[in-house]
Amino acid sequence: MMASATLKPRHEQRILNGHLWIYQGNVARLDGEPSPGDIVDVFAADGEFLGRGYYNPHSQIAIRLLTRVKEPVDRSFFLRRIQRARAWRARVMPDATSYRLIYSEGDLLPGLIVDRYEDVLVVQFLTLGMDARREIIVEALVEAESPRAVYERSDVPSRRYEGLELRQGLLWGELPEQPMVIRENGLSFEVDVAGGQKTGYFLDQKENRRSLAPFVPGARVLDVFCHNGAFAVHALRYGAREVLGVDSSEQAVESARRNAALNGYTKSAWFVEANAFDFLREMDRSSERFDVVILDPPAFAKSKAHFEPARRGYKEVNLRGLKLLHPGGFLVTCSCSHHMPADEFYRLVLEAANDARRPLRLVESRGQAKDHPILAGVPESAYLKCLIFQVLE
Ligand code: SAH
Repeated sequence: MMASATLKPRHEQRILNGHLWIYQGNVARLDGEPSPGDIVDVFAADGEFLGRGYYNPHSQIAIRLLTRVKEPVDRSFFLRRIQRARAWRARVMPDATSYRLIYSEGDLLPGLIVDRYEDVLVVQFLTLGMDARREIIVEALVEAESPRAVYERSDVPSRRYEGLELRQGLLWGELPEQPMVIRENGLSFEVDVAGGQKTGYFLDQKENRRSLAPFVPGARVLDVFCHNGAFAVHALRYGAREVLGVDSSEQAVESARRNAALNGYTKSAWFVEANAFDFLREMDRSSERFDVVILDPPAFAKSKAHFEPARRGYKEVNLRGLKLLHPGGFLVTCSCSHHMPADEFYRLVLEAANDARRPLRLVESRGQAKDHPILAGVPESAYLKCLIFQVLE
């Protein structure tokens, strides 16, 4: 008999509204003694079947739902989910050869991330329930996608909340020499899936990079937190006169230089290794000014507890970025922290603009690329904000 969990009275509403996470505090009773990672059936207090998910007694999230029907969670289940995820990408980005193939909750596979870099798949098992099924998941991925290699980048600190060690390494096939070259929006970028940040590249900004096109022709562009220069190279492709990128990681800056050269931009791209806060202050002092400033910092707010310091950090970079713009120039400002809600982010940019005495016009309000689909009932699956403003004076 399948183990089961019964929720406390009235604790089912979030789940009925589409959320997939059941906290320990939602559970009234467990039957059938499930082991960590086992599949359990979940029932409301009145006995209504809510769905089926995997159980972890060691995580604050006791159960993550995988399905709302009584179907076996086996290799063919994962194969169907992967095919469905693939079909979505084929619909919304038919020409893309590198994209996020599986985005966890957004693809109804909580705890699983799979990025496709050309013919290489990079996998993250974020939870015990997914980690326990790694073999059938890799088999299903190989069957669905016929990749050249499946490489694991589960070197993610949040695995510790699940009682898991960090892991990294080849799971299947043969990894091509790293870094490898991927294509995005007709441009080439080197990606190091084994040694780069996260899975090697920030695929979630693909559509926002494209949105630079109308704002950069002839412009002098500053790309702050440039990583491997993806925004900078797009800006050049869309006609920027010159780009200056800054990042605190030496590896990122060197990769950005190679990426500019790889796309034929040798005389118009400059990259500096520096702390963005110091660098922006320095630029202000030396009266350097730009037509477009891009701000794409790391997640300053890693949890709710870090909200206030994170807000100050975001506000400061935005204030400093705004000061460097010519009148009529554009600010492209991002936040990738789920803990910074969109309305709050908008508000802090306006505060920075008031402090800097730079009146703004909102040009576009954007989010994560469509290969990072947002599950409407799971607010945590929406994280990326990208606002484009014009400085009027
Ligand atoms: N814009 C990039 C992604 C940026 S990710 C893209 O489009 O792909 C955030 C980057 O900020 C990382 O490359 C990280 O190395 C860098 N970073 C983190 N803290 C920093 C700091 N204090 N100053 C400068 N760069 C920093």
